[in-house]
Amino acid sequence: MAARPDRMWNWRELLPVRDPQHIVYLGEGGTPMFHARRLGETLGLPHLWIKDEGLNPTGSFKARGMAAAVSRAIELGAREFVVPTAGNAGAAAAAYGARGGARVHVYMPQDAPPANRAGAQTAGAEVILVDGLINDAGRLAAAYAKERGWFDLSTTREPYRVEGKKTMGYEIAHHFGWRAPDVVVYPTGGGTGLIGIWKAFEEMQALGWIDARRPRMVAVQAEGCAPVHRALYAGAERCEAWPAAHTDAAGLRVPQPFADEMILDVLRRSGGTSVVVSDGAMRNAQECIGRREGILTCLEGAATVAALRALLETGLLQADEQIVCLNTGTNLHTALPPPKDRVDG
Ligand SMILES: *Cc1c(COP(=O)(O)O)cnc(C)c1O
Repeated sequence: MAARPDRMWNWRELLPVRDPQHIVYLGEGGTPMFHARRLGETLGLPHLWIKDEGLNPTGSFKARGMAAAVSRAIELGAREFVVPTAGNAGAAAAAYGARGGARVHVYMPQDAPPANRAGAQTAGAEVILVDGLINDAGRLAAAYAKERGWFDLSTTREPYRVEGKKTMGYEIAHHFGWRAPDVVVYPTGGGTGLIGIWKAFEEMQALGWIDARRPRMVAVQAEGCAPVHRALYAGAERCEAWPAAHTDAAGLRVPQPFADEMILDVLRRSGGTSVVVSDGAMRNAQECIGRREGILTCLEGAATVAALRALLETGLLQADEQIVCLNTGTNLHTALPPPKDRVDG
């Protein structure tokens, strides 16, 4: 690459790839932050912002983590990858693998969003459908990785995906003139981005870019799968496996996050909290964001906006605070109910 690589790689001195020639680039990062004025008005929150990660390659912020992990692993000599995924991570791993000239094997629950499956296959990955959830896919992937010597890209089991996702933290602070917003609301599955954003704030302070102020980190989970929320309110150090996890927000269908201790630690140390929302509330919020702002979010992203009312009602959010909601993906991967017939005029 002749010129300085842009977007996420603008921060490349803080990323794990040593030689820029090894950067596997598809345009990840550098996503816009939208002031959600109309939406904020209806909620009584004048300083509400949405960072739109749906504009990333392959349609989700998984691109950031996979760009960092695949680039660094290829630099270290890996040529074959395996990833268990609830959906988006599979398409992202497949795309970055293809771009980097590597083979990718994707283990995906059979009820993962069809768009993710199609994306992974189009990028040439081998897709293995698993009768179970992401944790079951993870066990299979880990076993094959060990047996065949493939590089395992499982969430937080390798160090580099967090590094890619931490760049969201740099972009957020940069947007506010090197200041932390008051609150960051994050739809939490495996927790990579939550941990990454927090790490970015610690690094930026160490570098002298920001002061000691930190955002309160809020994890949003689905009613049908809320292991982090339950552990936080039970005062536990670890999450118990959530039985029969179910939600249409595939990214939140993680019954037992591997990095549970780190997630809970970030929530507690930041003075943050967790919120649970129903799939119905996510769909309502998705429509509300679309109508008021023209931002078409995924269900996971919509969950962060759905959580705001509960946060306001319980006094965990003040109306004049600077709030960043992360829309983690495009709405094109969401399985939508058939549209209602609407006749204009
Ligand atoms: C993976 C995913 C999440 C959860 O992200 P984590 O960093 O693993 O907690 C949220 N939303 C979408 C769209 C995802 O693909």
